[in-house]
Amino acid sequence: MNIILLGPPGAGKGTQARLLQDKFGLIQISTGDMLREHIKNDTDLGKKAKVIMDQGKLVSDDIMIAMIDSRISQPDNKNGFILDGFPRTVAQAEALDAMLASHKLSLHWVIEMRVDEAALIDRICGRYTCSNCGEGYHDKYKIPKQSGVCDKCGSTQFTRRDDDKPETMKKRLDAYRAQTAPILPYYQQHGILRAVDGMADIPVVAAEIAKILS
Ligand code: AMP
Repeated sequence: MNIILLGPPGAGKGTQARLLQDKFGLIQISTGDMLREHIKNDTDLGKKAKVIMDQGKLVSDDIMIAMIDSRISQPDNKNGFILDGFPRTVAQAEALDAMLASHKLSLHWVIEMRVDEAALIDRICGRYTCSNCGEGYHDKYKIPKQSGVCDKCGSTQFTRRDDDKPETMKKRLDAYRAQTAPILPYYQQHGILRAVDGMADIPVVAAEIAKILS
């Protein structure tokens, strides 16, 4: 089963993708994580992408399409994948259809995670992840059981994203409204779009998504 999680930054796509990965044996493909890996490794692409990401803008379609094309054809995807952060423009959605067709794959569901925009800045600006296992936390909404220690792997190293600042967040939301939201009617026409309430508690959202997938 191949699915897309769509929604503005802070909607919880990454959190839900990780849960789906565990529950259904799907592979999470996060273009944001792939770009951050390039930045960490100081590649040419990473250097270019960082400037764009820090401004809250989108990296060019050509780069992102090439990145996904080489990723979805890898053998670890045989049970299916969850795209988290791709497609983000209509051009990317159209290119994805062509890529899937050429790899003889199809798309089963596109899950739109609906959220209250006013709450997003609060959600995003307090979030951080475990540097070792990637488990997500939040200053107010998800605090580790033992302060400063990851619940999942025991690491004491955590990371905050450079683009999780209120000014950048507003630009990322503008990019979502202008460039990503227009994808929704595209998938609506294909009859595979379903929406969930992304403001509900994490397990409730996960159950709603699981219901759609099964
Ligand atoms: P994310 O982790 O999905 O919120 O992505 C972080 C940033 O990476 C975005 O704000 C964009 O600058 C860039 N990015 C990630 N995925 C894409 C994409 N599919 N198209 C263009 N830019 C992307």
